[in-house]
Amino acid sequence: MKYQSTRNRETSITAAEAIALGLARDGGLFVPDTIPAIGPEDIERMLSMTYQERSVYIMGMFLEGFGKEELTHFAENAYSDKRFDDPRVAPTKKLNEDTFFLELWHGPTCAFKDMALQMLPYFLTASLDKTGETRQACILVATSGDTGKAALEGFCDVPRTKIMVFYPRDGVSDVQKLQMTTQAGGNVGVCSVHGNFDDAQAGVKDIFSDEELREKLSGAGYFLSSANSINWGRLLPQIVYYISSYCDLIGFGAVKNGDPINFCVPTGNFGDILAGYYAKRMGLPVSRLICASNKNDVLTEFINTGVYDRNRPFYTTISPSMDILVSSNLERLLFEVSGKDSGLVAGYMKKLNTEGRYEVTPEIRSQIQADFRCGCCDEDQTRATIGETFREHGYLIDTHTAVAYHVLKEYRRATGDTLPAVVVSTASPYKFCAAVMEAIGKNADADGLTLIDELAEATGVPAPAPLSGLRGREVRFSDCVEKEGMRNVVENFLIR
Ligand SMILES: *Cc1c(COP(=O)(O)O)cnc(C)c1O
Repeated sequence: MKYQSTRNRETSITAAEAIALGLARDGGLFVPDTIPAIGPEDIERMLSMTYQERSVYIMGMFLEGFGKEELTHFAENAYSDKRFDDPRVAPTKKLNEDTFFLELWHGPTCAFKDMALQMLPYFLTASLDKTGETRQACILVATSGDTGKAALEGFCDVPRTKIMVFYPRDGVSDVQKLQMTTQAGGNVGVCSVHGNFDDAQAGVKDIFSDEELREKLSGAGYFLSSANSINWGRLLPQIVYYISSYCDLIGFGAVKNGDPINFCVPTGNFGDILAGYYAKRMGLPVSRLICASNKNDVLTEFINTGVYDRNRPFYTTISPSMDILVSSNLERLLFEVSGKDSGLVAGYMKKLNTEGRYEVTPEIRSQIQADFRCGCCDEDQTRATIGETFREHGYLIDTHTAVAYHVLKEYRRATGDTLPAVVVSTASPYKFCAAVMEAIGKNADADGLTLIDELAEATGVPAPAPLSGLRGREVRFSDCVEKEGMRNVVENFLIR
């Protein structure tokens, strides 16, 4: 299997090259040129496997040039019990007869990004070897919170890599900030930026396109690389948990092997739900993929009308990881549903860049509507869903997961669809304590660390160790720069 670019289907490179490069030179994203198939016999075989074994089984289908032994080593380390606090890694929990929650936040940073960012460093370093790259990778990340910490944990002390994370000084929660500024490791750097997430992001983009700096870094033995979800190496590990969760539902007796189910996914950059789409294309019996948005409902409009329009207000919400107007991974879906029409996709992306808007053909729209449903959820509905779910079931969910659960309930009410459904649960409620405390009717007037203790006391749900352990940890990184100063920070970090 080779990989091609969404903007040029003639590209043909290996999996290792796609992972090492991250983004295609034409600006497109890499996708596999064929989608491997799984059937009921594969599911049957996976039923008795551990999560690590399931991940080797699935990832191996996409990674020609990587051996089974090698992938087993990756999976055992990335998803070890030193990194994940649940031996099932990504457990599916049963709420009632037809509703399940796939908990993707048992990793070291308590959000679903760990599922991919614990694996990516293994993929990347192996890909450097396979492609004969001799320089060290420097991972640059601009983060609105969850990605930065997950990337720091993933790359911490990984040989032949360094990682530098920029976050907006006033744009992350207390807990998120402490998670980053206390990060351990000899190859890590963290710096805050005056301004908002867009400033940090724009600064990183400027550094990537600074030819002079690239030359200079290359001379010192470094190249710049990205850990965000455009890299195929981040998408692939996410396909596994959809298939694994289906196996778990069979285990519960909720479905028989071959019966269809729905997934409902809280969506921002469209990476998570796109992995679900690939699982469905592989043959997993998924009826609908339900795309849940918060008040930033650009994807709801797109799936309903075929018009993608980023010219709209940007809302800051209590589910900040979904506060996004441009969902990069949608490009991969457009490529797949247009019959791999890379010219058409390149045209849409160009229009998005210049006009902030494009409209897909009616054929593409109906292709998308065949697999996807969608809905959005405002702030009050998000809080109400957390409160209700806790009161009725004693089950505590975070703000992002609540968006998805609300959208699922609305979807069921509107359509009468009674298939078993899995809500993809993307963060520990303890990552968003203030909003969760308010939602269950408690006072949230305290600093982040105090709220962790108060939430545990109010609910009886224990706080994850990586978060409760933040208290008393030494702050290692306190620098704050203007956007223009970011280049210098990177240079000093790499060339001392
Ligand atoms: C990143 C993130 C999302 C959105 O996932 P995408 O792959 O960007 O769609 C949802 N919830 C949480 C908690 C996240 O960190």
